[in-house]
Amino acid sequence: MITVKDLHKSYGQLEILKGIDIEISKGEVVVVIGPSGSGKSTFLRCLNLLEQPTSGEITFEGESITAPKHDINTTREKMGMVFQNFNLFPHKTVGQNITIAPLTVKKQSAAEADLIAENLLQTVGLSDKKDVYPNQLSGGQKQRIAIARALAMQPHVMLFDEPTSALDPEMVGEVLEVMKKLALGGMTMVIVTHEMGFAREVGDRILFIDEGRISEQGSPEEVFGNPKNIRTKEFLSKVL
Ligand code: ADP
Ligand code: MG
Repeated sequence: MITVKDLHKSYGQLEILKGIDIEISKGEVVVVIGPSGSGKSTFLRCLNLLEQPTSGEITFEGESITAPKHDINTTREKMGMVFQNFNLFPHKTVGQNITIAPLTVKKQSAAEADLIAENLLQTVGLSDKKDVYPNQLSGGQKQRIAIARALAMQPHVMLFDEPTSALDPEMVGEVLEVMKKLALGGMTMVIVTHEMGFAREVGDRILFIDEGRISEQGSPEEVFGNPKNIRTKEFLSKVL
């Protein structure tokens, strides 16, 4: 579904991504771990061109999205993204947050968009929150709404950048539960997280990114159970 070839990203003189190669299959759940500042967010943001790669090629569903003539908007519609800080529209209700992109970008009818929103609210367990504003929600609820909003565009892949890092500990579980449900439903997902228990349980593959490179990857059993790289071992010894 996604192929990344020799992806580099620099900010000025500073090279952040130093050659990333990876193929992600449909339905795969890839969990990205690694030290702070190693380039995890930059990698994720390059996948949907929130950041323009300095060099390298990314193809998505057979199309080169880094080609100069490519229309990124159509690709972004197929890639849902969830951020650490929710990024909900504060002056719109939960229902409006979820339906705005389907109405304006996908030109869905109000009835169709509402129906999809109601189904999604049910999926994330917040059917009773349709008419409230984001500031009336807890952090965990906000993030579940942010996930529902991304799903409303019926994306082919979901990208998560530390979706639980801004949450109080007691709210982490409810968000991970929703993500697990998505994974079991066959969604293709790329998830940056420090939740190692979740990574181990839900990930099909773990990528350890260190200093702008994938320095180790494998199944959760391989990476957590028998890390080969000294840097992976060091990192895991700090976070496990
Ligand atoms: P991670 O998500 O693994 O913590 P990031 O991808 O956010 O790492 O950042 C990697 C490095 O790139 C950091 O040193 C960060 O300061 C730098 N960086 C990220 N975004 C920018 C930017 N827009 N301009 C300059 N430097 C940046
Ligand atoms: Mg980050």
